[in-house]
Amino acid sequence: MTTPIYPTSTFEFVAPGKTTGFDYTRSGNPTRSALEANLAELEGGTMCRATCTGMAAVSTVMFLFTAGDHVIAGNDIYGGTYRLFADVMRAFNVTFSFVDMGDPAAIRKAVRQRTRAIWIETPSNPLLRLTDIREVVKIARRHKLLTIADNTFCSPVLQRPLDFGVDVVVHSTTKYLNGHSDVVGGAIIARNKALGERLAYLTNALGTACSPFDAFLVLRGVKTLTHRMKAHVENAQAVAEFLAAHKRVEKVYYPGLSDYPQRDLMRRQMKAAGGMLSFDIKGGRKAAERFVMRTKLFTLAESLGGVESLIEIPESMSHASMSARARAEAGIKPGNIRVSVGIESATDLIDDLTQALDQN
Ligand SMILES: *Cc1c(COP(=O)(O)O)cnc(C)c1O
Repeated sequence: MTTPIYPTSTFEFVAPGKTTGFDYTRSGNPTRSALEANLAELEGGTMCRATCTGMAAVSTVMFLFTAGDHVIAGNDIYGGTYRLFADVMRAFNVTFSFVDMGDPAAIRKAVRQRTRAIWIETPSNPLLRLTDIREVVKIARRHKLLTIADNTFCSPVLQRPLDFGVDVVVHSTTKYLNGHSDVVGGAIIARNKALGERLAYLTNALGTACSPFDAFLVLRGVKTLTHRMKAHVENAQAVAEFLAAHKRVEKVYYPGLSDYPQRDLMRRQMKAAGGMLSFDIKGGRKAAERFVMRTKLFTLAESLGGVESLIEIPESMSHASMSARARAEAGIKPGNIRVSVGIESATDLIDDLTQALDQN
């Protein structure tokens, strides 16, 4: 009933040049292959490669580009992805424009002669802004650009970008797909075969594939994905409504709230609003720092998507690698607090927030 772990680096050949389908674990491993088949199916793709981290997936995809290429991305993407794009990729002369992805005119304006791709991350992090995936795909196709979507925040249970015409999906399986905060991993899923083969080639050439042990754990996590997502969404909705009504809270960012500005878009491309939210606390940075020290059920930690609730301050933690100016441009305030709502009892979660806010 469970896929065995194949902890082997190499496989016996049947005859010179003739394998049983596996020769060397960097190139392929039965445990990892089982996970890849699973994730390809969940996202509706033709090819998947499971990588050792989410950033390994993003980095591998970057090797599709060559010096002089240009990519358009949102201005409030995941901090680690931003660092790779804005800093590391500069040495390879691959350049990026960071735009407001909620504004199709801004995307169109950013297209240059050497633009090769548009990077989509929706909902964004930590402000939960949505990008209209269909609209971006339309722009990309007009200019013959690739579209790549980081689907980590939703998982395929809540959103399937390939169904909307996106070419490549990446994941940090560290988050919802594994769901138990005991693995770092990633995945690349491609819609068409040729691009999938190129990405599989790159994963092997770069050596970014994940270990059989990690593949086993993610496979186990995926078995409960649908049910975990349901619990995350229910709890996040309850927590968001509680925070929105609290007098010490300035603003809540959660797509499930009735006054959320992109509610129609959320309904068009997502099955539910997800398990992530953030809010601005009254009193700014100092108030935020006091608050996160007072919660007991919400652990002060980066990362997200596990069954346990986590809380953090983007300015000094998850988004510290962005410059203060880049954060300000993205609208991330010093008093912004990001919450990954777990699957604990909603009453317990709200009791904990109540005591922490009341002491503040
Ligand atoms: C965590 C995360 C990543 C990076 O994944 P790692 O597994 O930490 O390398 C990329 N994108 C998003 C949206 C993430 O949340």
